[in-house]
Amino acid sequence: MPFRHYIRAVTTPSPLPDPRVRPQGTPGVGGLVDRHGRTATDLRVSLTDRCNLRCSYCMPPEGLQWLPKVEQLTDDEVVRLVRIGVEHLGIREVRFTGGEPLLRPGLPGIVAAATALRPRPEVSLTTNAIGLSRMAPALAEAGLDRINVSLDTLDRQRFKELTHRDRLPDVLAGLQAAKDAGLTPVKVNAVLLRGINEDDAVPLLEYCLEHGYELRFIEQMPLDAHHAWTRGEMVTAEDILARLTAAHTLTPDVEERGAAPAERWLVDDSGLTVGVIASVTRSFCGACDRTRLTADGQIRNCLFAREESDLRSALRGGADDAEIADRWRIATLSKLPGHGIDDPSFLQPSRPMSAIGG
Ligand code: SAM
Ligand code: SF4
Repeated sequence: MPFRHYIRAVTTPSPLPDPRVRPQGTPGVGGLVDRHGRTATDLRVSLTDRCNLRCSYCMPPEGLQWLPKVEQLTDDEVVRLVRIGVEHLGIREVRFTGGEPLLRPGLPGIVAAATALRPRPEVSLTTNAIGLSRMAPALAEAGLDRINVSLDTLDRQRFKELTHRDRLPDVLAGLQAAKDAGLTPVKVNAVLLRGINEDDAVPLLEYCLEHGYELRFIEQMPLDAHHAWTRGEMVTAEDILARLTAAHTLTPDVEERGAAPAERWLVDDSGLTVGVIASVTRSFCGACDRTRLTADGQIRNCLFAREESDLRSALRGGADDAEIADRWRIATLSKLPGHGIDDPSFLQPSRPMSAIGG
C-alpha cells in the first residue's frame, strides 16, 4: 500500500469485543495482559513521524507524507496516556522515540512529566543524536535516565550515503554530550546492511569500547517504507558475531536476560558488553513485554502488527481514565504470539518504522 494511503486504512478503529464478555486478563483493573500470558510493562511512545535523516533501511530519500499536526497527540495528550499507562496499567518503563524525538519541541517537558509519575517509571530515549549536544543537559535535568543513539558507521562519506545527510560530526558530538550529562550507560544502536556497512562492525565496537558506550547491533527488519527488505540479503546475527569474534574475544554475559531483546557478550577483558538484537533470526516474541503508542494516538501490540486501536478518538471524545485504560487492556488481548516474518503469509505492516516508533 502506498504510504500516503496508510493513514486512513490503519486509523479505522478495530471493533471492540462485546463488553459483556470478560475474558481472563480483562478486568476493569489490572495490567496489559494478552491471551498468551504476556504482560506489557514497557511502553514505547513515538513523539513524531518526522526525521532529519533518511536512513536507507527506514525512510526514502524524499521523506514521507508526514502526519497532519491535528492528528498528532498534543504534549498534554501524550502525558495523559503515559500517566494512564503508569497509574492504571502497570507500565514501568517508558521510552520516547520516533521519527526523531529531538524534533519535538516539548520533549524536555514530556520527559519531566513522565519522571514525575508515581510509581516512577524508568524513562529513556532513542535518538539519532542530531541536536543532542545542545539538548542533553536539559534532558538530564528533566530526569531522563538513559539514552540510545543510532549510529551505523564512523566513515563520514558512508554516513552521508546511508542517511542522505552529512551529519556524522553532530552525532558523535551528541554522544559525547550525553555521556558528559550523565545519561549513562550510553547505548549505541547499529544496523548493518550487506555490501554497505558490514565492515563497520569492528570499528564501531572499538570506538564504543574506547568511549565507554554499550554497542548493540540490530538485525535489519522488514519495516522500510519502500518494502525493499529481503531475508536473503539481510546481515544476520551469525554474520555479525563472525566478524566480531574474528577480532575480539566474546564471552556470553551470564546476567539474566529477562525480556531484554539483546543477547550480550563481554568483550575481551574490557568489562564492557556488546549486544545483538536478532529480531529476525532468533526472535524473542515469547518474552515480549512491550506496548506501543504512535504519534497519532494508536496502540500497537507489535512493530509488525497489522491492527491498531484508536485511543486518540477516546481521548478527544471525553473518555475518562478508566475507560481509556479498559480500551488499552482490550487492545492488548489480541497481541499475536509472534511476528511471523518467516511465515509465507507474512505481510509487512503498512506503516514504516519511522511512523510506528522503533
Ligand atoms: N530516529 C531515532 C533513531 O534513529 O534512533 C529513533 C527512531 S528509529 C526508527 C529507532 C531505531 O530503529 C533506530 O535504532 C534505527 O536504527 C532502527 N531501525 C529503523 N528501521 C529499521 C529496520 N528496518 N530494521 C531494524 N532497525 C531499524
Ligand atoms: Fe530517522 Fe531514525 Fe529512521 Fe534514521 S532510523 S530515518 S534517524 S527515524
